[in-house]
Amino acid sequence: MAKVRHVLNAVRIEVAQRRRICHHDRKHHSIEKGTTCLVIKGPSGEGQNNYCAICGLEILDQAADDLASLRGSLV
Ligand SMILES: [Zn+2]
Repeated sequence: MAKVRHVLNAVRIEVAQRRRICHHDRKHHSIEKGTTCLVIKGPSGEGQNNYCAICGLEILDQAADDLASLRGSLV
């Protein structure tokens, strides 16, 4: 049987090895060393953006809504 294609390759969770800045709010949000963050690769692989857990959850919630909408449109 053919493998099901993965479409979320640009998104992953990482543990910060050093302090990172949250791309959503560079002034007020930071990602401390040793904490998890959401990392999103840019289109065609160049660059990536980091998001703190709070912003990351908002992004994933939005993605879940978008996926539900896509599913709803298909069936
Ligand atoms: Zn943030």
